[in-house]
Amino acid sequence: MKIGLYFCNCGSNIAELVDPEKVRLGLAQDGLAYFKTYPFLCSEEGKAFLEQDLRDERPDRVVIAACTPREHEATFMRVLEQAGMNPYLMQMVNLREQVAWVTKEPEQAVRKAVLAIRGALLRVALQQELEREELEVASSVLVLGGGPAGLKASLTLARAGRKVVLVEKGPAIGGLPVLYEELFPDLECGPCMLEPLMGELLHGEYAGNIELLTLSELAEVKGFFGNFSATIRRRPRYLDEATCIGCGECVEACPVAGKNPFDCGMGEKKAMAFAFPGALPNLPYLDPALCTRFTEGGECRLCSESCPMGADVVRYQDAETLVERQVGAIVVATGASLYDCTTFPQLGYGVLPQVKTAHELERMLASNGPFAGDPSGLPERVLFIHCVGSLDEGHRPYCSGICCQYAFKLNRLLRSRLPQARIHHLYREIAAAGKEASALYLSAREDPGTALSRYGSLAGLSVREEGGEARVFVAGGESLSADLVVLCPAVVPGEDAGALGALLEVSLDRFGFYEEMHGRIDASSSKMRGIYLAGACQGPADIQRAALQGVAAAGSVLCELVEGRKLRLEPLFASVDPELCSGCRVCLKVCPYRAVSFDSEKGVACVSSVLCHGCGTCVAACPAGASRAQHFTGEMILAEIEGALK
Ligand code: SF4
Ligand code: SF4
Repeated sequence: MKIGLYFCNCGSNIAELVDPEKVRLGLAQDGLAYFKTYPFLCSEEGKAFLEQDLRDERPDRVVIAACTPREHEATFMRVLEQAGMNPYLMQMVNLREQVAWVTKEPEQAVRKAVLAIRGALLRVALQQELEREELEVASSVLVLGGGPAGLKASLTLARAGRKVVLVEKGPAIGGLPVLYEELFPDLECGPCMLEPLMGELLHGEYAGNIELLTLSELAEVKGFFGNFSATIRRRPRYLDEATCIGCGECVEACPVAGKNPFDCGMGEKKAMAFAFPGALPNLPYLDPALCTRFTEGGECRLCSESCPMGADVVRYQDAETLVERQVGAIVVATGASLYDCTTFPQLGYGVLPQVKTAHELERMLASNGPFAGDPSGLPERVLFIHCVGSLDEGHRPYCSGICCQYAFKLNRLLRSRLPQARIHHLYREIAAAGKEASALYLSAREDPGTALSRYGSLAGLSVREEGGEARVFVAGGESLSADLVVLCPAVVPGEDAGALGALLEVSLDRFGFYEEMHGRIDASSSKMRGIYLAGACQGPADIQRAALQGVAAAGSVLCELVEGRKLRLEPLFASVDPELCSGCRVCLKVCPYRAVSFDSEKGVACVSSVLCHGCGTCVAACPAGASRAQHFTGEMILAEIEGALK
């Protein structure tokens, strides 16, 4: 076998300490076909030299003794390809970082270099030609969740010409911010801020690229990056969505009403109703839990009969359907939930009428809320309890990030609508980092009608009713009375995050949020290739952060799933020898990328070459030695060790 060695001097970095001539002599017995040096092999001239020399010498295998493969392995693999060689027939030896930069004595450095190269020579002889498989991909994208992150991801992709299937669980898009009339930090109107975005998504220039499926959820997903097949469960709206003009005549005509979930059950809604005033898409939906046709088997057809577009626009006979879509990537933007405040019985939530959550107070203040924005019934003495469940080892140890800001925003709103209001904030920590975030906090601190004090632990707080008002007892003896106690609960993973995570095979972090590929430098990718994350489903986020993450996820999709470009699979994946596999499934448990599945018919594990990152964890874990990693076989590694020890 003809093995050639290229020794890069790296200017003076390597050659000054590791004398190439002495290395050549040291390898004299090792069956090297040739030994060539070059001043800078990664330079344009160096690469041209290498390519031409490979064409002239036609070696079977190549060893390049230079710098770290992290820096230039891909460079030299490309040169091999250009010279007509299979790029996997090369091995790099890191003489710079592992020898020249860390060895003081030149003779020792030469000896280390010889041993390392000897290992590479033995290893490279065992390396095989590997081919990169290419797959056709679908370039369309499934986006789960129609809040700020999902909207921005969908629009960014649609503007880039991608087909998007946007799946929203509820009857309307926009997420929580469309319910808030004043947002922190600058009291901008939530619906006004989001409506241009939603309008563009529904009716803009790129709306044709977006298929919006409301009242829908992902039911099943098969396949892998570039080739997902998604089954989506659609609950009926009981309307012909294409014909309905959203005039609301049916809502007027509907005779039954029940609790309105969008107002936290404080107001009422009809059985046929819009999700909330101004909801988009501008379509009502029929709630079968309220409509007497469904609850009592009645014959009421008032909504249908009132419709100016025809009696068959309302479709009582509609049922749940399943639709299938082929997509290349999935963006998860399903948002988060709030911690259940009944977890703290001593705070009286759900029992005392004077205890509400901040979200409920938002709705109480809203002009389209249960009290139509009427300030006459607003409480005059309000006490906010921050960090309900956050920063608490027994509950959620992290800071939820947004609660201080919305608490001080509500402070501002209450004081402006009710100047005589007296407000007290009980907090554990104040967190208001960022360009604008501290403004509301600072103005509350300077406000003579607002007081702030710190509490030690939620366990030390209790709320009781005394003479029609709430009395908050703080450990240490202090007690404060209020007309309304407002709880600011921790931001927690969405209720169905676990189930959806299991469906998508996306892992959760220790708090139950979706786990990023890397929390700092690759936060828009999940550990499943082709599944991207955006917004509060990966941790507490404000609107700005969620929207930016939506754009980031879209950007990741656009650069990784390129229209017309086939998916090129690195051949460095593991495979399981079915003859050796005992079916113990250890590999399924250890694979961090969920690339291993179990073929229950054959009783053996198998690896998806698309999902496998070639990390080798399964190879190390397999007790039967059935799992093998291409290009990193046990024989190759042992040969390298043997060479280095000679
Ligand atoms: S290949 Fe590596 S060692 Fe050689 S010149 Fe380039 S950077 Fe330096
Ligand atoms: S009356 Fe007819 S057109 Fe008007 S909102 Fe109801 S279903 Fe739609």
